[in-house]
Amino acid sequence: MRREAKNAADSGFSNTFAGKELNFTSMILPIVAYGDPVLRTVAADITPDYPGLTKLIEDMWETMYASNGVGLAAPQINRNIRLFVIDSEQIFNNQDDEDKGMYPDEPGHRLVFINAHIVALDGKEWPYNEGCLSIPKIREDVMRPSQVTIAWVDENFTPHTASFNGITGRIIQHEYDHIEGKLFIDYLKPLKRKLLKGKLDDITKGKIKVDYKMAFPR
Ligand SMILES: [Zn+2]
Repeated sequence: MRREAKNAADSGFSNTFAGKELNFTSMILPIVAYGDPVLRTVAADITPDYPGLTKLIEDMWETMYASNGVGLAAPQINRNIRLFVIDSEQIFNNQDDEDKGMYPDEPGHRLVFINAHIVALDGKEWPYNEGCLSIPKIREDVMRPSQVTIAWVDENFTPHTASFNGITGRIIQHEYDHIEGKLFIDYLKPLKRKLLKGKLDDITKGKIKVDYKMAFPR
């Protein structure tokens, strides 16, 4: 999921993102664009001996921050596995004073989710204007339940079960959809979807200007 850029300077790349030092051996991976079948496959669980997992997670952090993402799922970097990373701390760090206290999950979370499975979705549905790194320059309001309860293992394969709400719960649901082969545009009404068809086709064909590295299906 991508956050909205507040100004031009906000969309630049640097070696530190939100004050977090990155490992210099990590690299930016191309983000798979809408239309690639990998975004439509249900991803598989992995075991701790998955080759190069530590480096892969580092690369996903770097790729996510370089594209102003607040979440990134493995299918978006062409890996059909149940792995995603989220950093909602960025949203709160970039928030205007007047928006403080708007979400119950302040100051956010920075987490790695492996082999995640949703246990329950609860609470009132609320709209949020979502964007996706695989579907650049399209943002639409999506209704989702306010709370997600999820079971997963972290980067050390330590198991967790926890509930998340606010912006963190929103990002987790968006990224979880990616490992289930779903996209935020699937929630739009058929007419809205139809109106976006031309734009979506252009993304698939690579007929779009983006400020981060992408891989187009054709
Ligand atoms: Zn996405």
